[in-house]
Formats: sequence, C-alpha cells, structure tokens
Amino acid sequence: MSTSASIRVTVWNEYIHERTKPEVTEIYPNGIHHTIAEAIRRLNPNCDVRTATLNEPEHGLSQDVLDATDVLLWWGHAGHDQVADDVVTRAWQRVLEGMGLIVLHSAHASKLFQRLMGTTCMLRWRDVGELERLWIVAPGHPILHGIEGDFVELPAAEMYGEHFDIPEPDQLLLISWFEGGEVFRSGCTFQRGQGRIFYFRPGHETFPIYHHPQVQQILVNAIEWAYTRSGNYRADGRHIPQSLNSIRK
Ligand code: ZN
Repeated sequence: MSTSASIRVTVWNEYIHERTKPEVTEIYPNGIHHTIAEAIRRLNPNCDVRTATLNEPEHGLSQDVLDATDVLLWWGHAGHDQVADDVVTRAWQRVLEGMGLIVLHSAHASKLFQRLMGTTCMLRWRDVGELERLWIVAPGHPILHGIEGDFVELPAAEMYGEHFDIPEPDQLLLISWFEGGEVFRSGCTFQRGQGRIFYFRPGHETFPIYHHPQVQQILVNAIEWAYTRSGNYRADGRHIPQSLNSIRK
C-alpha cells in the first residue's frame, strides 16, 4: 500500500516532573515527550515527529511550528499557569483551522483544553496505584483499531473519577473502571471548528503508562484519526456587498 503525505506531529510536554522527581526520571529519563515521540516514530514511520517543552522560547510553539503541525499532543500538570496566554490563543486558533489535538491525562486542566471545551474540565482523583480497566464502548472506532479484547488494563494507575466537567463528547470510546469503584470517561472525541480533539486519560507520570503497547497504539491511531489533511482553514467574517435588488434581478 502506498503511503500518503507524512503527518507532522508535535509532542508538547511541560517537562517538569521528569527533571524534579527521581521516581519520574527513572521511568522517563528523557521526558514523557521523548518516550511518546519514539513510540509514534516506531509505530507509524509516516509521522514526522518533533517535540516542544515549556522552557523553550514561546514554549517551543512559535507560529511557524504550529503552522507546520498537523496534530499536537499536550501533556501538562504542574505548569498549566506558566503557559503564556498568547501561545494558548495561537494553538486554539490552529485547532479551529483544522489542527488535530490529543489531550493527555492531567492536561484536562490545561488552559488550551478548558478554552476549547468552555467548561472547568475538573474531576475527582486519587493516587494510590490502583488497577484500571478501560472498557471499550465504541469497538469499531479507528482510534481503537488493533486493540484486542474488551478492555485495556493498567495494573497501577492514578484514579480519575466522575463527575468530569466536560461538554457532552461527540463520541465516547472508553470508560474506565477503577479498583476503588469509580468510573470515568477516559476516551472522548470532540470537534471544534475544523479541528478534531481526542481526550485520553491514561498517563500519570509516576507509572510507566506511555511504555504500555496498547496505550501507544491508541495514541498513534488517534494521531491518524485527528489528521484532517486540510488543517489550514481560516474562518473569516465577510460582508457580502450585493443588494437584495441585484440578487433578485
Ligand atoms: Zn496524574
């Protein structure tokens, strides 16, 4: 099968915990962004992957970088407030133009996701390393291609529980059940403007979640799904000058 044009992917990570917490450094020595980027390159060599982090100028997300990004992945937790509002606006605009966005784990509380959703995106949580089962509720969806069985199981995870304050998703793909009894909408799709958005819950930094083969497969599937091939639509308000009389002639 011939390959289509490459998908330009940017993996953004605040890159704080990996540099400050030894137990996280051990799991992600080069940062979560590099582990995810390597998995994408391995599973879909047709992806042209770059990374960007909070401490780079403009957080590594200049207009040029965003204009050359078809799908953006976003991991953040401790540094949401440090993300400059103009960078958020720039990324928000690119989503409306058709850039895909994959929102990872604690990025539920990122400025970008909150702005796109229009709600608080808050939830319940508990971090005791409990079992999580992500039940597949949309088995035919392309984001779940190649995922065998009825669920994906993570032996130790941080719990996220309902209520999750998001708008009704366009489609719900995964519902998590946790050992402690809570449930959570763990895989949700949205569209804003021309851009496709996927929220994917797994990814707490103290567990090797992004080394998990099925988690990696879902991320790569999500990139392919979110890539719309026309990610540069600019919505422009426009005055139409003809009078009704000229139209009615
Ligand atoms: Zn977490």
